[in-house]
Amino acid sequence: MLNFDISALPTPCYVVDEKLLKKNLEILASVRERTGCRILLAQKAFSMYSTYPLISKYLDGTTASGLFEVRLGKEEMPDRETHVYSPAYSEKEFGEIVSVADHIVFNSFRQFERFSRFIKESERDIEVGIRMNPEYSEIETDIYNPCFENSRLGTVLSEFPDKLPDGISGLHFHTMCEQGADVLERTVKVVEERFGKYLPGLKWLNFGGGHHITRDDYDVEKLVDVVNYIQNKYGLTVYLEPGEAVALNAGFLVSEVLDTMKNSMDIAILDTSAACHMPDVLEMPYRPNIIGAGMPGEKPYTYRFGGPTCLAGDIIGEYSFDQPLKTGDRLVFCDMAIYSMVKNNTFNGMPLPSIVYCNEQGECTIVKSFGYEDFKSRL
Ligand SMILES: *Cc1c(COP(=O)(O)O)cnc(C)c1O
Repeated sequence: MLNFDISALPTPCYVVDEKLLKKNLEILASVRERTGCRILLAQKAFSMYSTYPLISKYLDGTTASGLFEVRLGKEEMPDRETHVYSPAYSEKEFGEIVSVADHIVFNSFRQFERFSRFIKESERDIEVGIRMNPEYSEIETDIYNPCFENSRLGTVLSEFPDKLPDGISGLHFHTMCEQGADVLERTVKVVEERFGKYLPGLKWLNFGGGHHITRDDYDVEKLVDVVNYIQNKYGLTVYLEPGEAVALNAGFLVSEVLDTMKNSMDIAILDTSAACHMPDVLEMPYRPNIIGAGMPGEKPYTYRFGGPTCLAGDIIGEYSFDQPLKTGDRLVFCDMAIYSMVKNNTFNGMPLPSIVYCNEQGECTIVKSFGYEDFKSRL
């Protein structure tokens, strides 16, 4: 089932599988080819830049949420587009942003007015846009919903001027999370109804991220139709900036059982922590799949998995197995390329997982390993 041998790897480690990454990239590239739209990697979800040379063969560039990401995108994918959007830029960062970004999206017209002078002075050819808040989202979890009440993300229609100021060549919206093309279709309809008078004359329209394009049941045909419809109607270029979809199901977290114990139920303590190494398990929250494991009670031996931190809530979930677990057994958590290594931390002095790349031949390379200095140097 796995393309690589887990027994030889250091644990804990994230493994990104080239074959699986390429499969995603091919799907994304097919959308580009069929529409002429442009697709960017949202680095927020996945910033493993050793894969950027591969990604740049399929996608048009990177997008960033601020100075460090935009710099990483420029440095590691230099021959592609570098985009940035931030809820608010600071003057001390903006000089550097202007020196590397090809597209700068502002959260408000105030920010645009404050910073457009720096863009002019740079004499670089920079596309400038505004993030709109269409006040329409089908996301049900508030912390992931950029359109919840009083949201700071984007400008609502009532704050838009009658006419877009000179210098703005595009608009941006980001209102989706792990959603299908049906949600996009309804969202675009609302955007057209509310912001339609601003669309003619734009050079580009950015549909943001949250498109689960590489998920098995995603309706790629519908996405292609929506993109083509908008591009043909307004004569503009659509940008998509998925994060998740680029590396969805393309990576794993390999962990080892440190100990087992009982407290009314069987418990296994692993060398990986939910809080430190897969924080979205607690934040989203969600239950990651483990290869070979079932739901609690489905197989004869059920365990609750916890991390080696002192946080009582550092619980990964409950899983069942055909055999009892013992110290040294290895577990493989699925879909751990995205929102994992970009969010991990050394809380409680936890070591960071190594980062491993597995090529198409199944050969693994340790891209990076971490030690005590990575913990100490930040404090
Ligand atoms: C988070 C984010 C993305 C990427 O979202 P995914 O859900 O990972 O596809 C793209 N654009 C913006 C503005 C974002 O905030």
